[in-house]
Amino acid sequence: MIIDKNISLKNSFGINASSNICLTLESEECIDELTYFLNNKSYKKLIIGEATNILLPENFEGVIIKNNILNISIISKDEVIVGGGVNWDYFVNWSLENNFYGLENLTLIPGSVGAAPIQNIGAYGVEISKFIKKVRFYDFIDKQIKEFTQNDCNFSYRKSIFQDMDILILSVCFKFVPGDLVTSYDSINDYLNTNNIKPSDLTPIKLSNIIKKIRLDRLPDYTKIPNVGSFFKNPILNKADLNLEKLDIKKLITWDLGNGMIKIGAARLIELVKDKIPKDVNVDLYKNHALVLINKNNATQDDVIQYSSFIQKEVFNTFDINLEIEPIIIDS
Ligand SMILES: Cc1cc2nc3c(=O)[nH]c(=O)nc-3n(C[C@H](O)[C@H](O)[C@H](O)COP(=O)(O)OP(=O)(O)OC[C@H]3O[C@@H](n4cnc5c(N)ncnc54)[C@H](O)[C@@H]3O)c2cc1C
Repeated sequence: MIIDKNISLKNSFGINASSNICLTLESEECIDELTYFLNNKSYKKLIIGEATNILLPENFEGVIIKNNILNISIISKDEVIVGGGVNWDYFVNWSLENNFYGLENLTLIPGSVGAAPIQNIGAYGVEISKFIKKVRFYDFIDKQIKEFTQNDCNFSYRKSIFQDMDILILSVCFKFVPGDLVTSYDSINDYLNTNNIKPSDLTPIKLSNIIKKIRLDRLPDYTKIPNVGSFFKNPILNKADLNLEKLDIKKLITWDLGNGMIKIGAARLIELVKDKIPKDVNVDLYKNHALVLINKNNATQDDVIQYSSFIQKEVFNTFDINLEIEPIIIDS
């Protein structure tokens, strides 16, 4: 285990954050040392991957724990175990190059493999949960290494059981299920139509390359324009609960989920109220995608929380819809 003191915390929102101690695990064997370290100190702890979905305070008073387990092991023709420290997009590219197909729609999502099950990352009609066979983790409460099957993880839209647990994901076992390419998402269809590409001509690698192009057009590169991706979840509501006096459904982007439930595109809700949101010198909406908040000028955590609460208030007052924040806001 590597112990670093007084570190500055690199994070995708570009907040100038620091912490007293960072512990980096390079293998499962470090768990005993980690437990010993934590037993002897009364620090608060924060597990991080690549810090692309957390909003940090300027100073975190506690221990940062980082998984840097980097192995990828092929178990069979359809199963692979991946260390939690592996970069997610590196693994997606590796899987495609090694003929394990299915993750092509999840290309270019920032972050680590260990963080990916936490919010069940998803994009362009696919969620990681479909490919998870087991998640191996250290439970800080029982002080034991455990494994959960896909079923145990209680995955749903941007949710998993891990969000309510005190754990460190060590590795993830992926099972690659055969299936058709997922091309039903509107932006994929638009791309195929504009470029005269027939879905039947696609391969997983061609689809992954198309998704890269769509993402690069639509989302800011956080190394140049700091951000944490989508700042709010797309609200999922019972159709019967929609306030149709306040909502013109034709102006919205919606996905019918069946069973009377509907998912509403949060970006469109924000676009419809954006002129009423007070301007902020440090935080703004990204010009190509209103769901992405950007740090335009040394924003602090407080600046972002205040700006996002103005958005939530306007959306609620206008449509009677609550927007839930997606990234994790970390207390100091
Ligand atoms: C430009 C941009 C685009 C994005 N696009 C998408 C997208 O399309 N779809 C999507 O779902 N997300 C998207 N995100 C969000 C982000 O990529 C994912 O949430 C990703 O999984 C975060 O990985 P990370 O390693 O950076 O996690 P971090 O931000 O470091 O941590 C996120 C959470 O996971 C916990 N955590 C991290 N690692 C572990 C571990 N090993 N064990 C236990 N807990 C852990 C942390 O404590 C924290 O609560 C985007 C972000 C950005 C900046």
